[in-house]
Amino acid sequence: MELKELLENARRNEALLQRLQAFELQLLSAQSWLDFLTLLLEALPSQFELDAVTLKVCDPEGVLKASMLQSLDLEQGTLLNQIEFKACLPMVKAEPIAPPPPWRTGLGLPLIRNGEYLGQLCLYSSNSDRFQNGMATDFMQHLAAVIAACLIMVKQSEEQSRLALTDPLTATENRRGFERSYQREWSRGQRQYHVFAMVLLDIDHFKKVNDIHGHGTGDRVLRQLCKTLKGVMRPTDHIGRLGGEEFALLLPGCQPDQLEMVAARIQQAIRDMDVRNDDGKQVPITSSGSYLSVTPRPHQNLGLADLLDHLDGYLYQAKGKGRDCFIHAAD
Ligand code: GH3
Ligand code: MG
Ligand code: MG
Repeated sequence: MELKELLENARRNEALLQRLQAFELQLLSAQSWLDFLTLLLEALPSQFELDAVTLKVCDPEGVLKASMLQSLDLEQGTLLNQIEFKACLPMVKAEPIAPPPPWRTGLGLPLIRNGEYLGQLCLYSSNSDRFQNGMATDFMQHLAAVIAACLIMVKQSEEQSRLALTDPLTATENRRGFERSYQREWSRGQRQYHVFAMVLLDIDHFKKVNDIHGHGTGDRVLRQLCKTLKGVMRPTDHIGRLGGEEFALLLPGCQPDQLEMVAARIQQAIRDMDVRNDDGKQVPITSSGSYLSVTPRPHQNLGLADLLDHLDGYLYQAKGKGRDCFIHAAD
């Protein structure tokens, strides 16, 4: 190789190294799946002139996929189209791979953290000289090691925020988690003129359930209630435990003319619950609630607290009417 060519090569490597270091610093500050996946699947190809980047991850129990689905909202979820979740993956080396058409060259990079094989990143280019056999891959292997470490860090950080947003007894959203879901639904509704429904419900005479059958039975009622609600609601609906035996339900896309029927179905499903006390005796449960259909409008901001206050007034009326009663709250 001529000296000029050598110098040219060295300069190119130096520039690549600087870009990689800057990219790795960005990766290291990612705390959510959105940050991490946007960097990997959008910033990496654009900053390094790649035509496509795909990620394959080992996810035998579906834990990673569930974590990503929970953290990304519906629109951000399209990032997942670039990820393959595999029960098991053959180990690859850091080396050029045959690309799927229309790409001309590809590089496979194993993601390994503390000896554990996490998955593989594939970089593709339409440039036929881009990845060649015998090329030096040490910069890219370093990048792969940083990506693997960040994958684990983001997974842990997402798990912690999930715990902070979840009620441990019923595994539904706690007040903070529900607040976040509400904010997301509100902004989505504003962008897309999307209607949603809110239901506030409270178990009737729950104190008596505890007093007569014990706290353990009371807890069982709460868990059974949430299981029952999940059974009659859509997977995209949200259940929030606001406190004690009071729950709020957020039903995206639930049309105003369906709401009365939906509320009646929920009320009936709660009546039909088969909960037993410690002696195996059936504990009858009823609930009272109020419900309302909401259409977010641009430049309007209706906070969750105000909406719940409004619903609470009607819930109070339902209790006054003798309980086991759901009331439509006036707009
Ligand atoms: P109402 O029909 O008017 O709603 O009466 P209530 O007895 O359901 O309401 P009240 O607010 O008087 O009592 C709620 C009870 O819920 C009191 C509290 O001990 C109980 N509770 C709150 N959190 C839990 C919990 O996590 N587990 C159990 N077992 N009980 C709980
Ligand atoms: Mg109650
Ligand atoms: Mg209550």
